[in-house]
Amino acid sequence: MAATPPDPDATPGPNSRDLAARAAAVLPGGVNSPVRAFRAVDEPPLFVERAAGPHLVTADGARVIDYIGSWGPAILGHAPQPVIHAVRRAAEGGLSFGVSTAAEVAFAERLCALHPALEGGLVRLVNSGTEATMSAIRLARGATGRTKIVKMDGGYHGHADALLAAAGSGAATLGIPGSAGVPPGAVADTVVIPYNDLDAARAAFERHAGDVAAVLVEPVAGNMGCIPPEPGYLPGLRELCTQFGALLVFDEVMTGFRLALGGAAERFGVRPDLVCLGKIAGGGMPLGAYGGRRDVMERLAPAGPVYQAGTLSGNPIAVAAGLATLEALCDAPPYDRLRAATERLADGITQAARAAGVPVVVQRCESMWTAFFTDRPVRNYDDAKATDTRAFARFHAAMLRRGVLLPPSAFEACFVSAAHDDDVLDRTLEAAAEALRDLAA
Ligand SMILES: *Cc1c(COP(=O)(O)O)cnc(C)c1O
Repeated sequence: MAATPPDPDATPGPNSRDLAARAAAVLPGGVNSPVRAFRAVDEPPLFVERAAGPHLVTADGARVIDYIGSWGPAILGHAPQPVIHAVRRAAEGGLSFGVSTAAEVAFAERLCALHPALEGGLVRLVNSGTEATMSAIRLARGATGRTKIVKMDGGYHGHADALLAAAGSGAATLGIPGSAGVPPGAVADTVVIPYNDLDAARAAFERHAGDVAAVLVEPVAGNMGCIPPEPGYLPGLRELCTQFGALLVFDEVMTGFRLALGGAAERFGVRPDLVCLGKIAGGGMPLGAYGGRRDVMERLAPAGPVYQAGTLSGNPIAVAAGLATLEALCDAPPYDRLRAATERLADGITQAARAAGVPVVVQRCESMWTAFFTDRPVRNYDDAKATDTRAFARFHAAMLRRGVLLPPSAFEACFVSAAHDDDVLDRTLEAAAEALRDLAA
């Protein structure tokens, strides 16, 4: 049975415009997170009323095919029933206790059983991806007694001061170098190197011999658009870290449970010392986690001297959503289907672009993908910045006019969910073919 078609035009209407005006009066920039303002694509912000499966319903009642997926968490599609039920059940029992629960233990057990970095190790729950990376680098510094953190140009790890050194995603889109309000001292021990460049990583280790506590990397870059690691890159980072006595930290906030049940560590067969999780792990609720080697994690308070805490950490509702999501993924792993669906989208968009004479390179890894407006492969942040972001903005608007919502920035990954069925993919490809013809005209 064919699904009802998306509404032909989902550009914000009167209700969204009214909400945008009210929002602008009480929220900085009218939003609670910068990219939601849609400034990078020069469009008015979109307001969502509700969502189900692959669709969002806007404040103006238009139904759109969604590739933002809450920026990653919605791998099962929106409002998956088992997760909604688990949250309802948990909520009936109370929202927060500040004392340990059985659900936290079961959730941690599940995380440790699924992610290779957590096998035989320990995990600590927090409330966001930002908290996970921020805490992981504190732990890395505390455990190694070293100060320097190596990160990749365009790599985004949340908004902690030390990691807002030439960050990608929202900050990149707005063209802010790092961020105002981050004192030079906060990033003085952050070494920024290009992604996919082992020589640069080796040079950083040699220049800062004995000082590097950790290398923090998105194993598949997702916050400068989707940029997979080149063959040998992740194993090479692993070797360098081992050789120089630094910890390898995979920021799998986006890739965890997205590429495979064991994230990028499983997909690429590389085991980091620590891993940061979030997004899918919280099933749409605010939750993050970091963990890994037992000897390192035992440096955390109360077992060890590195302090980190949280009133709402391990929150019962967040844990219920996370556990139900992981159970659904384990019961019926969607990864083969997601890969095939994403391949279909990528191939279809590539063909449509060629037919329209618009230079587009679609990059993907499992169910993450980005259409870059360029004629050559994008392997790092400099390459991403050299793509035609104006063309992307026009494509974004043309897609939205046809009922398809892409992330509103050229430097973001699109996400396919288990709810994106063949009909949804067909409609997306029809919209893309027309949108690309528009662009060429
Ligand atoms: C989203 C993201 C974060 C930050 O997570 P928040 O929950 O937004 O704080 C960190 N790292 C990566 C790789 C992400 O994609």
